[in-house]
Amino acid sequence: MLTNDRLAAWDRENFLHPSTAAGAHARGEGPQRIVTGGEGVYITDREGKRSLDGFAGLYCVNVGYGRMEVADAIAEQARKLAYYHAYAGHGSEPAIELAQMVLERAPDHMSKVYFGLSGSDANETNIKLIWYANNCAGRPEKKKIISRWRGYHGSGLMTGSLTGLHLFHNAFDLPLSPILHTDAPYYHRRADGTQTEAEFSAQCAASLEALILEQGPETVAAFIGEPILGTGGIVPPPEGYWAAIQAVLDKYDVMLIADEVVTGFGRLGSMFGSEHYGMKPDVITIAKGLTSAYAPLSGSILSERIFEMITRGTDDLGPLGHGWTYSAHPLCAAAGVANLKLIDSLGLVDNARETGAAWQAMLKSAFDGHPIVGEVRGEGLMAAVEFDADPETRTPFDAGEKVGARIAAAALERGLIARAMPQGDILGLAPPLCLTAVEAEEIVG
Ligand code: PLP
Repeated sequence: MLTNDRLAAWDRENFLHPSTAAGAHARGEGPQRIVTGGEGVYITDREGKRSLDGFAGLYCVNVGYGRMEVADAIAEQARKLAYYHAYAGHGSEPAIELAQMVLERAPDHMSKVYFGLSGSDANETNIKLIWYANNCAGRPEKKKIISRWRGYHGSGLMTGSLTGLHLFHNAFDLPLSPILHTDAPYYHRRADGTQTEAEFSAQCAASLEALILEQGPETVAAFIGEPILGTGGIVPPPEGYWAAIQAVLDKYDVMLIADEVVTGFGRLGSMFGSEHYGMKPDVITIAKGLTSAYAPLSGSILSERIFEMITRGTDDLGPLGHGWTYSAHPLCAAAGVANLKLIDSLGLVDNARETGAAWQAMLKSAFDGHPIVGEVRGEGLMAAVEFDADPETRTPFDAGEKVGARIAAAALERGLIARAMPQGDILGLAPPLCLTAVEAEEIVG
């Protein structure tokens, strides 16, 4: 077996890690951890350290680690048929079964699912399909996509543009031009401290409406948003937000893409975040929770309306010119089928709601009123603790103090993985959906 020293050296020498300070890592500075195993909500590393994974990897290992049902389903499918493509009407057994299972769980008006591999490629697919649908429906000028500052939708060229975080734009020449950004529904950082949540939501909807009118509604195709902002700081929508946004979108015939890469399949205690907040999406993006990350798989769930628009095109133009070699990969689909069955049999959506509610209450009672805690917020099994230099006036810490990163590092020393969110002093928590009451207490402790 390779020694720890050898692996650590190879890692520093060879591996350009995603979302990592590349120079520091190569020079031997900054964090390095080689993870070797996982069981339930815990992971272990090569040094033998065990940690409670309070972020479920990247909020994706929803059924928890070490689920043999999912591992066996992948192995069985690999022995039977490791790969066949899904082009030109072909398919594999698990891909067809999974499409059925996804649509049984999706809102009623959703009609078809297109499978990709990552949340990023699924959002890329969404934009292409909406453009294609609008072209086929004879409205080729309706192409602009509105996203939100602080939204996260991936890091491809198009999806990195949709993402509303400067870190993902800096030095990449993003965002690309058909993408526009509107206000984040970030009530804690509102400029006007006297506003109620409902007033703030109305203001966000008014900004969106003003942007649509300024651009011309006939040029705006879609609005994309996560039901609850994730990477942008784990921010649940303020009261009335989605109803106010939905009314604007309906008024100008702008489609809604609900990016449910994080919230899909139970994280908020409902099967989908859109149903949780009463959104009426035309497209839903799914990924992480679809397979609990046992294999990479994503999907674009389309409404009947978009599907009809697309069929007009393919009847006239020929086959849909959009596909990946690994679309609906059988091994990933087998993982998805086993994963969704496990979510049902273990009652994980109910657990996210019930254990989640108790856990949110525990977090609030432990941290609300703490001298450096500005806000404790969340829904289901997704929460954030935001630190302020002065909570009374909502004055943030100086960025140079790196308070969030220091607290995350201190938590890790004590055996808890919590994520310092990339912007601001926010500690993010999103444990596996199988979290027990005892483990919930352990996180808060
Ligand atoms: N959309 C949301 C809401 C996400 O949180 C993420 C990833 O965290 C993505 C899209 C991109 O997914 P991926 O990293 O699989 O490309």
